[in-house]
Amino acid sequence: MTDWSTDPALAAELDAADPLAALRDRFELPPAPDGADDSIYFVGNSLGPLPKKSRAYVTGELQRWSSLGVKGHFSGEPGWADYHRTFEESMARIVGAAPHEVTVMNALSVNLHLLLISFYQPTPQRHKILIEEHAFPSDHFAVESQIRQRGFDPATSLVTVKPREGEQLLHTEDIIAAIDACGDELATVLLPGVQYYTGQVLPIAEIARAGHRVGATVGIDLAHAVGNIELSMHDDDVDFATWCSYKYLNASPGGVSGIYVHERHVDDQALPKLLGWWGTRRDTRFEMVNEFDAIPTAESWQISNGTALTNAALRGALEVVDEAGGMGPLRAKSRQLTGYLLYLLDELAGDDVTSITPRDPEQRGCQLSLEIVPGDIDGKAVFDEIEAAGVFCDWRYPNVIRVAPAPMFNTFSEVRRFVDLLVAGIAAHR
Ligand SMILES: *Cc1c(COP(=O)(O)O)cnc(C)c1O
Repeated sequence: MTDWSTDPALAAELDAADPLAALRDRFELPPAPDGADDSIYFVGNSLGPLPKKSRAYVTGELQRWSSLGVKGHFSGEPGWADYHRTFEESMARIVGAAPHEVTVMNALSVNLHLLLISFYQPTPQRHKILIEEHAFPSDHFAVESQIRQRGFDPATSLVTVKPREGEQLLHTEDIIAAIDACGDELATVLLPGVQYYTGQVLPIAEIARAGHRVGATVGIDLAHAVGNIELSMHDDDVDFATWCSYKYLNASPGGVSGIYVHERHVDDQALPKLLGWWGTRRDTRFEMVNEFDAIPTAESWQISNGTALTNAALRGALEVVDEAGGMGPLRAKSRQLTGYLLYLLDELAGDDVTSITPRDPEQRGCQLSLEIVPGDIDGKAVFDEIEAAGVFCDWRYPNVIRVAPAPMFNTFSEVRRFVDLLVAGIAAHR
């Protein structure tokens, strides 16, 4: 544990001692607006920056298309037809799964629908889905429409759990109590690994245990968790999960999503599933026969042929994770970055700023949701000022600034500069 201090020299010392410092140079970070000093890219929770290798790999695919045309499907390393398979090992390490439990395809919300088709099997007795009251709207829409598709009514089949009155975070016991209250009416639990607004890390293993105890399937939305915290989908006994790769994994805007399916389900041909030709075995796929011959892995959820350009972008992005030595070293630096930021806020901003995100390092990832508290401070003016000074961060009404120092490309000096800008902004707008 570092001994924090407010000495401005500390930030440079921490950067000099950072074993991951070289990774910053693997990215093209957006420049600051005109008139500002350097930028500080604290929005990797929204869209990660461009890895230089992704630029190279995408350019390489354009070249392959230009020179090989259709032959690119099967020539080159890897050919487009099997490009997605090259990610199984590295993605499996990132989410804590076996390679046959993961694949990459489509986008998150689409995959959520595909997985709910398999894992939400309502019956008149057991028809409820539990989500959070403040779920990401796309997740809420997906669940609501899935309930309707099956002939049920969200008014009676959609159950939510929410923070207690006057609070913003979820209590584990409230989640468990909501699961228990549904009992044998609960078909599926769908909760996030990390809550997108508060940055709270939820207890995935406990949620999975509680869901299974009442006989429900358990799915986890890893949008804000993947590439952020260490995950163990398989050991936590989660049934299914999906994530996007453009937030903490930096794999391009709208980049290719990933899915995880527990190995007890991957070859269960009795599960309902929407089928497409990329889910059928590759040795018979091009015989163009009408018998679906499922690949006995998560790949059988594949429908369409893969997208070479977004796969190329993902390739460059995952190589940075591998260069870091995986999620362990990244998570260690992330705790330091947020620990330093919280310490500096306590010392330099005092009561003007409070963190909605839990202070317990086990319950927070990269993102801190910071509330500017006293009513006499114009929070939006503070935000506009630090944004004009080069800080990429995000503003949520009425008074929350979300920042996500990311261990792959952010520095301790940036954390220090951000806090100094925030404190100066507050002083100027009180
Ligand atoms: C970012 C995010 C999404 C985005 O869904 P797309 O299908 O990739 O547009 C969905 N759910 C959550 C919880 C997210 O954080």
